[in-house]
Amino acid sequence: MKTIGLLGGMSWESTQSYYRALNEGVKQALGGLHSAKVAMVSVDFAEIEALQHEGRWAETAAILSRAAQQVERAGADFLVIATNTMHKVAPQIEAAIAIPLLHIADATAERLVADGIGRVGLLGTRFTMEQPFYKELLTERFGIEVLVPDEAQRETVHRVIYEELCLGRTEPASKAAYLAIIAALGERGAEAVILGCTEIALLVQQADTAVPLYDTTALHAARAVERALEA
Ligand code: GLU
Repeated sequence: MKTIGLLGGMSWESTQSYYRALNEGVKQALGGLHSAKVAMVSVDFAEIEALQHEGRWAETAAILSRAAQQVERAGADFLVIATNTMHKVAPQIEAAIAIPLLHIADATAERLVADGIGRVGLLGTRFTMEQPFYKELLTERFGIEVLVPDEAQRETVHRVIYEELCLGRTEPASKAAYLAIIAALGERGAEAVILGCTEIALLVQQADTAVPLYDTTALHAARAVERALEA
């Protein structure tokens, strides 16, 4: 089994979901007392969040590149960055390490393509919904059309991520707001909705809506397990 490198803490609420999913995935595949081999470095999210909102992305790239190098030195065979948003600086992180990066959007898009889905809604932070780094990958590499919520809805989605989900809070009113936004994306023609922020599955689950949901945390972790168990 390969050692999965996990760059976490963004936020630690969702890194817990990854850690559980990696171990459950290996247990399911191998049975018994098997568990995932994981080398993890977890950063202080307050530092990252402040730099994000000031647009100081080069500094976030420097912090995460150093953390990724620590993961590599700890013996990881490949790297998983446990957040969608910080894939904005994935090229810089990738350039700082010798081990391969398992990109969260690739893991998600591969499943969408396998399921024959060509038009998706995307929920995530404002950075993920509004900037090109994530949407372009889906469109240009995989030919998937991406719809995002309108301005007021994006504000709600973003605010709930930083003010609630990353602090471990799940509020019924926010869940209702998210479900209305997901339904609206479905009405606009989205065949499925990507939960493109690693905390969103803490708030909404597939049982809450008829619109198919693609949870990036679950898909990324599942792909990491497959990679770890490849011969
Ligand atoms: N975990 C979130 C994501 O997947 C947001 C936190 C962050 O900005 O990294 O985008």
